[in-house]
Amino acid sequence: MWRELLPVGRHGSTGGYRRHAWTSADAECRAWFEEQALRRGLAYEIDRNGNQWAWWGDPTGGDAVVTGSHLDSVPDGGAYDGPLGVVSAFAALDALRERDALRERDALRERGVRGGRPLAIVNFGDEEGARFGVACVGSRLMTGVLDPAHARDLRDDDGVTLAAAMERAGYDPGAIGRDDERLARVAAFVELHVEQGRNLGEAPVGVASAIWPHGRWRFDFGGEANHAGTTRLEDRRDPMLAFAAAVLHARAGAERAGALATFGKISVEPNGTNAIPSRVTAWLDSRAPESGTLDMLVKELTHEAGATVTCESYTPLVEFDGKLRDRLAGLLGGLSGGAPVLPTGAGHDAGILASAVPTAMLFVRNPTGASHCPDEHAEEADCLAGVAALAHVLEDLLRETA
Ligand SMILES: [Zn+2]
Repeated sequence: MWRELLPVGRHGSTGGYRRHAWTSADAECRAWFEEQALRRGLAYEIDRNGNQWAWWGDPTGGDAVVTGSHLDSVPDGGAYDGPLGVVSAFAALDALRERDALRERDALRERGVRGGRPLAIVNFGDEEGARFGVACVGSRLMTGVLDPAHARDLRDDDGVTLAAAMERAGYDPGAIGRDDERLARVAAFVELHVEQGRNLGEAPVGVASAIWPHGRWRFDFGGEANHAGTTRLEDRRDPMLAFAAAVLHARAGAERAGALATFGKISVEPNGTNAIPSRVTAWLDSRAPESGTLDMLVKELTHEAGATVTCESYTPLVEFDGKLRDRLAGLLGGLSGGAPVLPTGAGHDAGILASAVPTAMLFVRNPTGASHCPDEHAEEADCLAGVAALAHVLEDLLRETA
């Protein structure tokens, strides 16, 4: 599977992936998914929000166990963030079908006997939000967290709306929105994902406990443009200084609070080397273990910055289903190194689904912690341990009413 998927959307000089939603690279990834489904004789569907589903068992049977992730990427992203969860889902299904209990079910189904929970593999569309600025669009739309009219109107850097991009890719943007009928079919969702820090230590696989609350804030620093060579220092109103101080405050504040704060994007006007800026706009990404900590940190930074601060997105703390989390941790406890239960600062479709259905996540060890960059990596042995863990978990969940 990796051999076919790895070249898709890979940039020649950076080696990073540019699989942005509803582009040709995304279409190639989606064609790969459909091909994997058909090759295995699975029932293939696309839901109203453009998410792809491959079903082993009756898609309308209800009480389904669902696994999967996403295939899109951030700009120059890594190979594993998203695809590891989808590839592992197909590999885990293959492993399950090799096993006796489930082979029996296949034989029964061939004779027209229905039975057992269906298993579905999903590829959620536009998880990274790299093109239209909102993350997890496919899962947010499905669960009703994102207003469809607002979503249709989102624009990329070229001014193309999400509606137009979907339409060009062959999908109907008029159909998007909350999909209660589909959600009602799902009994549990388990997303396997490459870990995005270095928090697993000796263990190849871990179980997620929670996703930290996180958000994005725009800081507008105002000043006065003037000549860099003739304006005396005491006469300047240079917003770059206030911005620079804010960056340092953010770092110090995050260290004190045990949180994370990053200014990763700025825009400067007029953006000339020999001009004092008139305006600096900077975007803060901040995350913390608790919302109280996060709110306090952002309040502090807002107070110190002397800027106009606008919250552009905020995702509260997500705690995964406790019963499902403990069940997974128990099942995987026998792995070498055990299966640590740990929170993450990264957002995922699973974090969105958690509001609607019992949801859990498995993390596969990341040896360097590099993520959202071309160096993102997972060792093959750890990936295989991830597949084995996922298969074990799915088998247990499928047996529940089988
Ligand atoms: Zn991801």
